[in-house]
Amino acid sequence: MKLTILGCYAATPRTFSNPTAQVLEIKNHTFLIDCGEGTQVQLRKNKVRFSKINHVFISHLHGDHFYGLVGLISTFMLLNRQTDLHIYGPKGIKEIILLQLRVSNSFTGYNLYFHELTSKESEVIFEDQKVVVKTIPLKHRIYTNGFLFQEKKGERKLNVDAVKQYDIETCYFQNIKNGKDFTLDNGQIIPNSALTFDPIEPKSYAFCSDTAFDLNIVSTIQNVDVLYHETTFLKQEEDKAEKTMHSTAQQASLIAKEANVKKLILGHYSTRYESIECFKLEAEEHFSNVLLADDGKVFEF
Ligand SMILES: [Zn+2]
Repeated sequence: MKLTILGCYAATPRTFSNPTAQVLEIKNHTFLIDCGEGTQVQLRKNKVRFSKINHVFISHLHGDHFYGLVGLISTFMLLNRQTDLHIYGPKGIKEIILLQLRVSNSFTGYNLYFHELTSKESEVIFEDQKVVVKTIPLKHRIYTNGFLFQEKKGERKLNVDAVKQYDIETCYFQNIKNGKDFTLDNGQIIPNSALTFDPIEPKSYAFCSDTAFDLNIVSTIQNVDVLYHETTFLKQEEDKAEKTMHSTAQQASLIAKEANVKKLILGHYSTRYESIECFKLEAEEHFSNVLLADDGKVFEF
């Protein structure tokens, strides 16, 4: 998996910081997660090919998480896109986008599919043979979801030397990769473990922005490889965090610890702070593997 942070600051776009948007490359998919104002410029700066984006996941309808979407849809139109575009987001997103297109007398030459979300329980919203995407219901001022991206367990890896040794024909390889034992002509059964290696462990990524401190999400994100959790404020502004239904760095680290995640990435910083290093220091008091998101930063895992 490769995660490119296009923007990870709260509220307004500024000279050197952008509102929330990220690109997750996972099993041949290029998923766009949130689409704050200026996302298409950030996509260009970070050399993400527009044509690769077929699925956009919007957490909630606060401006700093989706005001870039209609612009991106419009640019796709000008680039003569033909491929379907799927948008997953809270109920209302279809009405907002279609109103803007209709009033400006703009029509996409490609199919635009809206998958509007209303459930307060975690649900599967995308699935193919290799990946599943689920919602993570969050606690915020308006209806909000995080998203959990999980790779599925792949097939077993063929032990090329072993299948050669037993002179097994290629037409049996798929069965063996699916976990079946093999019977030789003399009736001897070769166990699958002698013919294959374990598949690579599937990875998972949880995106949680924006949310108040909420231990209810822990069961959904248990043991993920990487958790992105918002931290708009530091502990000293905990009252502001509570009032605006955001989290502090300390709260993000407590969620990471409770959920037993491997890595925690912090983001959605309020621009009131001069340096983002203080978020890392605060989070490290409770959780050791803390990374700081920043615009243009790439994480591979
Ligand atoms: Zn918000």
